[in-house]
Amino acid sequence: MNMRKKAEEDIKTRTILEQILEQRYQTNLNIPQKGSAIVLLVSGGMDSILLWGMLMKKYGLHVYPLYIAPIKENARSKAQKASIQHYASLYRKQYPQTYHKVYFQTHTWLFSFSQVIKKKMRLLNASFLYENVSYNSFYDKYALGLVSNPSRWYIYSSYALEYSLLLRYHYGIDIHTFVLGIMGDDGIYDKESNLAALRSVNLSLCLTSGYVQWSVLAPIDRKRNFYCEKKDMLRYSKELNLDASWTRSCDSNIQNHCGMCLSCLSRKEAFHKAEIVDNTDYSHPWYRRFIQAALSRVKHKQVLISKIIRKVKGVSQTNITPQFSPKDTISIQPVVTWHQKGKSVYVFNPNTKYFEELNSTASTIWLFVEKNSPRLEDIVGFLKNRFDQNESTIRSDTKEFICSFVRDGYLQLQKE
Ligand SMILES: [Zn+2]
Repeated sequence: MNMRKKAEEDIKTRTILEQILEQRYQTNLNIPQKGSAIVLLVSGGMDSILLWGMLMKKYGLHVYPLYIAPIKENARSKAQKASIQHYASLYRKQYPQTYHKVYFQTHTWLFSFSQVIKKKMRLLNASFLYENVSYNSFYDKYALGLVSNPSRWYIYSSYALEYSLLLRYHYGIDIHTFVLGIMGDDGIYDKESNLAALRSVNLSLCLTSGYVQWSVLAPIDRKRNFYCEKKDMLRYSKELNLDASWTRSCDSNIQNHCGMCLSCLSRKEAFHKAEIVDNTDYSHPWYRRFIQAALSRVKHKQVLISKIIRKVKGVSQTNITPQFSPKDTISIQPVVTWHQKGKSVYVFNPNTKYFEELNSTASTIWLFVEKNSPRLEDIVGFLKNRFDQNESTIRSDTKEFICSFVRDGYLQLQKE
């Protein structure tokens, strides 16, 4: 299945919206001239923090950063704030002319998919998930690509517009531009991280506020020569003379980085591609193993537990191999959501937010487990009749498969 296709931009819509903005309203969709002032959304993540430095150093812009914080502080927002404060103090010294302090604005989201996931609500049925998983080709991994707050671009852009009006009418600072730290490769994972979506937000705000000069920009615009991918941004940290490891990218509500969410995966991918040492503290114990596996992923693929068993390699949550007795019965973990489409079975673990597409053999095993809650030998006997394979190979491959799926929280073992 082609997960990437969904994220492709609607060029036609974008072109029409750009024509309306540029030709009818003379909105400037280019990065403004040196010395101009802009509002930048900062999240504490690698992209927005480094973009902040780039806008000051490379473009000579006065940057007024805006951070949208939850009213009730949590581990994630604390870590984001710590990142912002860390880099703000460096930028204040490095760029005293164009540095401006961060404006912290609190906001309450009425709805968030992260809450739904946490509560394991039935909204997460497999076909819904199937429509919302993204594929990371670098790690050969499917993960849930839902945007936690679907209205976020509007909310952020509305706050930015109001903040620019505050700066204009209270302090006489002329601002027409809002910059978001979306990178060129974000569109692979997020359906809304593209220019068509940004232009529509831009036009809506122009029309509803009457400020037709207002522009919403992001470095995803090749045509106007304002384009950056995560790895380019990270490489720019060398120009800025910064260590980007103190930025905070993770989607999880923990102090450190979880190392397994989509944001953590693309963070690690960026460090790897930029050939910069990643000093990020990924708190999970299996992190090092994961990184090593990813770095030697070609080799990793060659030592697949079995070519016939899993199409997508999962990342184990722990190094511990489950204690497996031949008498144990194997069944599906109750939290796991799954569905069958054609010959393939798709499984989703709401705890790790990982989605796996099983190949035909693994799908066959999955369906057998679902129906029979079998012991290992029952599966071996069943497979032996179907595949022309040596019995001991089938046994060891199946055992490996079951163990890894137990480790990843898809299956459970029950003692007699
Ligand atoms: Zn994470």
